[in-house]
Amino acid sequence: MGSAEKLVDNWGRVHDQLRISVTDRCNLRCLYCMGRQPASYLSRSALLTYEEIIRFVRAVAKLGLRHVRLTGGEPLVRKDLPALVASLAAVEGIEDVSLTTNGSLLSQWASPLKEAGLRRVNISLDCLCPAKYHWLTGGELDSVLKGVDCACRAGFDTIKINAVAIRHFSESEIIPLAEFARRIGAEIRFIELMPSPQDNGSPHFEPLPASEVLAALEAHYGKLVPLEQTSAKSPATVYKFPDGNGLVGIIPALTRPFCATCNRLRLSADGKLRNCLFAFESWDIRALLRRGASEKTLQEIVLAAVNAKWQSRPEPEDKNLRLPMPMYRAGG
Ligand code: SAM
Ligand code: SF4
Repeated sequence: MGSAEKLVDNWGRVHDQLRISVTDRCNLRCLYCMGRQPASYLSRSALLTYEEIIRFVRAVAKLGLRHVRLTGGEPLVRKDLPALVASLAAVEGIEDVSLTTNGSLLSQWASPLKEAGLRRVNISLDCLCPAKYHWLTGGELDSVLKGVDCACRAGFDTIKINAVAIRHFSESEIIPLAEFARRIGAEIRFIELMPSPQDNGSPHFEPLPASEVLAALEAHYGKLVPLEQTSAKSPATVYKFPDGNGLVGIIPALTRPFCATCNRLRLSADGKLRNCLFAFESWDIRALLRRGASEKTLQEIVLAAVNAKWQSRPEPEDKNLRLPMPMYRAGG
């Protein structure tokens, strides 16, 4: 058996990607994620240390883990993230370390991250109107635009701009965001909003379906051309603009689950391993690490998590479908 085959679940999906949340803290307060009520954050001692994260990744890389994406919360509020990037990039078997960030601290960190070995950056940017941005996130658009600019200069392999598609909010932002991404040479991706538990006092948000985003783009640009070599494992359907300038990914996270090709595991900031964003079940990696578990024991638990993965999450017809917890806790 080849090493990659060891992370194969009961439906033949190979799990070579791990999303690691390095903190549940954030310097923004997006209404659809954290909301504006005071968040109860994990205590510092509850967070996995960098050493613990690296120990875990070393063990799983021997089972075939190849890609690590750092997320949060806002990963750049955790101290000295480049040090973690450098250590992860040096783990034998790890081919790629990437980051999902709100971009507001990138002007400070883009170059150090690139030097540390970060290859790819996804920057979350839902709109280009400063007032709307402030309303939705509590932050300043200008700091994100500066961060995007620094990321462009730092020379990452790819930069993607991720926009959550929200009804009555995103419609007028689709073309400006697409134009912005085309101008800076980034791929723009629109992701359907996924309802999360409504305990944060936020207004009720409805997703804007991927089909409507595609229709708006095609009404403006003409027929988009699906990219033939879109990775089978990518949740996005990627299109070329008709003039050949730029790419747009559309992710129907809610209306068309991409479970059949899901290759991801997730580790929360407090060390809970999950095999699906929608799963309630988790495996307590932190407890094992702090009990001094052997590499073999860690690997057995990861294999148990992969083995327990369901074939697909509940169908979108289920009107009650919600994320079990907000993304800043799950590690989006
Ligand atoms: N703070 C970083 C950021 O915003 O990029 C990383 C963590 S954030 C939880 C990761 C991604 O999850 C962001 O692109 C954010 O827009 C997205 N997200 C958060 N809540 C979501 C929801 N309910 N539905 C869809 N995407 C969501
Ligand atoms: Fe923070 Fe990202 Fe959640 Fe916004 S989406 S509140 S930036 S963790």
